[in-house]
Amino acid sequence: MQAYRSPSRFHTGLVRHDAFAKLGWGHFSTVWLARDTRFDRHVALKIVRSAPIYTETALDEIKLLQHIISSGLPPNPPHPGRRHVVGLLDHFRHQCPNGNHVCMVFEVLGENLLGLVKRYQDKGVPMHLVKQISKQILLGVDYLHRQCGMIHTDFKLENILIYIDSIENVVRTELSVNDNNAATPPTKPRVHRRQSPVPVPESLSTPTDSQSLKPVDAAFPHSSKSSYLPDPERITVKVADLGNATWADSHFTENIQTRQYRCPEVIIGAKWGPSADIWSVACIIFELLTGDILFQPASGSKYTKNDDHLAQMIELVGEFPKSLVFSGKYRNDFFNSHGELQYITKLRSWPLDTLLYDKYLFTHAHADAIASFLGPMLRLHPDKRAKASELIHYTRLEGIMVEG
Ligand code: ADP
Ligand code: MG
Repeated sequence: MQAYRSPSRFHTGLVRHDAFAKLGWGHFSTVWLARDTRFDRHVALKIVRSAPIYTETALDEIKLLQHIISSGLPPNPPHPGRRHVVGLLDHFRHQCPNGNHVCMVFEVLGENLLGLVKRYQDKGVPMHLVKQISKQILLGVDYLHRQCGMIHTDFKLENILIYIDSIENVVRTELSVNDNNAATPPTKPRVHRRQSPVPVPESLSTPTDSQSLKPVDAAFPHSSKSSYLPDPERITVKVADLGNATWADSHFTENIQTRQYRCPEVIIGAKWGPSADIWSVACIIFELLTGDILFQPASGSKYTKNDDHLAQMIELVGEFPKSLVFSGKYRNDFFNSHGELQYITKLRSWPLDTLLYDKYLFTHAHADAIASFLGPMLRLHPDKRAKASELIHYTRLEGIMVEG
């Protein structure tokens, strides 16, 4: 494989990391498949951009990642969600002519959930996989919220990664695969329930980078997908990218979440907390089930993207509670004195169960089960939203496991 022919080298004390192939990238970093020669293992090397602002954020990310590890150790009780959050193995600084990069070393994981959604041609991931993924994400969220005292703040498909059983086997297999096999997952425009087709999603981490090495599909070609989903009936995922995470009791910023996954309280400038993550996770689960983005707002000549976003929320789950509206710092930008939207007045109610039935052709029973599971996660008032610990034990989650 081309990517394996000219490795870059990263030295940190006694350890040498040979970077082979690009696993992925985000707004802040590029992640490489690398060989850690000290422990003779493959690792994922997250190399953060060199600008000082990114360095500062990366140092916070390392503190949070270290806290994730220590929160899982005695005397703290073991928590089943620990294994659904990525673990930091090491970190170091790398100096090169372009600047100083913070590098983080992680276990190698597989593709992110956006890749999985694309693999199913954006038509929705099979229900039994969605059920496993949902439960595991919620376990990870519960671990972060209750045991670590953290809020992730950037839940989206790209930040949930599929666990691969044995990276050594995968790499061995892929080294013998001809580079031409590296297929790109099929893409189609991802259409929102009200709009079509949508432009490129506005995102904190839309990849803009087109370096010569290929992303994860080159290292783990689509054609040999069995190598990282060894048993297609079972899947394990991990919550990744703590780059925007924050302590529950002291926030780094109020400007959080990627647009489509942003909760109502953040848009209107009201108090937010761990339940902000629950909103985003509901958006992720909807996207897994349907292949469509739940909220994909756009601006119009008389309204902003935020107005449209709030309108879509009201259409889906109903009017904003007045107490929430009046606690929002930016309420006057969106609402009139009666707590009604000012700039979009024609709203078409389309509740979640009806949407799932009408547009996505779920049976009534499945649409009801899914809506009654997601509904409590999509309550507009953050204090009324279901907690991860409650959702994990939610019996209706079993209900949506039935094959659709
Ligand atoms: P950013 O903070 O720049 O968004 P992320 O931590 O989200 O960085 O990583 C960017 C992408 O790199 C992810 O979406 C994923 O595709 C890939 N990636 C990140 N960590 C790993 C890992 N441990 N193993 C495999 N791929 C990874
Ligand atoms: Mg990311």
